[in-house]
Amino acid sequence: MRLDDETVLVTGGASGIGRATAARCADLGAHVVVTDVDESGGTETVDRIAGVDARKGGADAGRGGADAGEEGSAEFRPLDVTDREAFESVVDDVAAERGLDALVNNAGVGHLPAPVEGIDDAARERVLDVNVRGVWNGCAAALPVMKAQGSGAIVNVASLAGVVGSPHLGAYSLSKGAVVNFTRTVAAEAGGHGVRANAVCPGFVEGGLGAQFFETFDDPEAAKRQMVADYALERLGTVEEVADAVCYLASDAASFVTGEALMVDGGYSMQ
Ligand code: NAD
Repeated sequence: MRLDDETVLVTGGASGIGRATAARCADLGAHVVVTDVDESGGTETVDRIAGVDARKGGADAGRGGADAGEEGSAEFRPLDVTDREAFESVVDDVAAERGLDALVNNAGVGHLPAPVEGIDDAARERVLDVNVRGVWNGCAAALPVMKAQGSGAIVNVASLAGVVGSPHLGAYSLSKGAVVNFTRTVAAEAGGHGVRANAVCPGFVEGGLGAQFFETFDDPEAAKRQMVADYALERLGTVEEVADAVCYLASDAASFVTGEALMVDGGYSMQ
């Protein structure tokens, strides 16, 4: 699995899964365009990748040091995924400069756990704006470029919550269910042009969006123990484990995989 000399655009790359994905793509040889509304976090992601580059071959070279081939590079561009014109502009600029081999629609937001009737309209619309319209905007911006190239891979970061019933995550599960099926539609529409589209459905991972989740329970430790018991692997995942799955789908290692919703959930959904 390599991404040598490929250009990969990652949304929401300032933290969590997006930051880990950007780092892993660079490990695998890609030039990564890190985008986010959080400029300081996005710049830090790029700086960290540059730091790994500088230590290339040394003891601190990280996981990339174990792979054959050269490590890649990264740059930051500010982008709010809910802004369709801005998304098109960033994609068009990147494509004109170096082509666009892969787009990772990762940016996402959640909401505080609440029953369906307890989620206010503003919170629901915010989740749909970022998680659904953001993914739509990314696909709509990238597809003309990738179709014209005759190649490209789109990876949408959905969620376990988009596939199984997820009490108290109503707006979030609505948004992620939409992403899973929209991904299949994009795959069906674009496959004839050599463009693949897949989704990754992570279970709960340590860090990132879910960091505050357990704090909303009276007994956070008990809530975490109860959740972990539902995973066949009896633990939560890591952002790096999700990043590996994203990179697989973005790379030619997955050249005959499209329209897939890859569960990265420690076996939660198969039980
Ligand atoms: P995170 O909060 O660490 O990262 C999300 C990033 O998206 C942040 O850097 C944030 O600034 C950015 N973002 C938010 N709104 C944006 C916008 N409008 N435009 C551009 N960027 C924006 O969260 P994470 O856990 O790394 O989540 C990444 C993705 O993974 C999300 O789509 C999330 O739904 C999904 N996911 C996370 C988990 C988990 O357990 N953490 C599980 C399943 C799916």
